[in-house]
Amino acid sequence: MKQICILIPTYNEQEALPYLYERLKRIASQLATYRFSFLFVNDGSTDATLDIIHSFQRQDQRVGFVNLSRNYGKEIAMIAGFDHACGDATILLDADLQDPPELIVQMLEYWEDGYEDVYAKRISRKGETWFKKWSSKKYYEVLQKISTIDIPKDTGDFRLLDKKCIEALKELRESQRYTKGLFCFVGFKKKEILFERDARVAGATKWNYRKLVQLAIDGITSFSVAPLRLSAIAGASIIVLCLLMLLFFFFESIFLGKSPSGTTSIITVVLFIGAIQLVSIGLLGEYIGRIFMETKNRPLYFVESQVDGVVYRNDESRKIG
Ligand code: UDP
Ligand code: MG
Repeated sequence: MKQICILIPTYNEQEALPYLYERLKRIASQLATYRFSFLFVNDGSTDATLDIIHSFQRQDQRVGFVNLSRNYGKEIAMIAGFDHACGDATILLDADLQDPPELIVQMLEYWEDGYEDVYAKRISRKGETWFKKWSSKKYYEVLQKISTIDIPKDTGDFRLLDKKCIEALKELRESQRYTKGLFCFVGFKKKEILFERDARVAGATKWNYRKLVQLAIDGITSFSVAPLRLSAIAGASIIVLCLLMLLFFFFESIFLGKSPSGTTSIITVVLFIGAIQLVSIGLLGEYIGRIFMETKNRPLYFVESQVDGVVYRNDESRKIG
């Protein structure tokens, strides 16, 4: 029997947990051909969340939990979950039932077909403000343009991950995590399924705009050095502008006998010098960007599958070659 681990990061979800557990139990009993386990990561909740998880655990041995020492945020709660998840596949689910667990059935079907990362893409988001939807849409457009990997739009963390993906994700130990990007970074066979995102069943969202902006910045800075390039680009444009102005003054004084006023020439020179400084900062940025990318110590690639060839000894291979 294949083992499926359902991983749920939870932070102050006392109202939502009983609903969630009921829904999960129902799904698990429908899918009797799999062996399910439920892994809760308690991310330093300050309400009765942990007690509720304890009570689930006492009556149901499929329930496990990891209790973190404080609130680290969902990104870290997820990696803690990956580290402790054991199953042939792991399904990552929000505790607030915004991700309908019923989709698990379809996810498992695709998984059986050989897909290793089946992610749910939302076609609508209920119970969220138009500003949150709009800013999120714009953000993903920008991120898509400037980052080096393809991060699908309108996709959250709700997904099924094969054991291979989990092993790969466990190797990415960076601390400023942007897990949505990391799912794409590790690759593997992906499949999307569409769903309508419900409103929260109970409780309030843990995100505020400050945290969202922080996550947005982590997303851009951990997958792109484009912002570091901005000063170089600004500097280069100003240099071109100054050169055009200088040329203009030059011809003006030769052919029309007019010399530019003192202020104009001073402004041009100051702009020129400023621009050269900007370009230099930009160049520094390029190098710092590379250092930054390297210090992440990310593995360079992951092997999805491999066939071992016949290994020749050195001298033999030379003879053949
Ligand atoms: N969460 C967490 N740690 C946090 C914040 C949130 O583990 O610091 C969990 C939360 O309990 C929920 C999931 O992450 O299961 C998504 O959080 P939320 O519903 O607040 O985010 P939204 O759906 O509004 O983006
Ligand atoms: Mg939510």
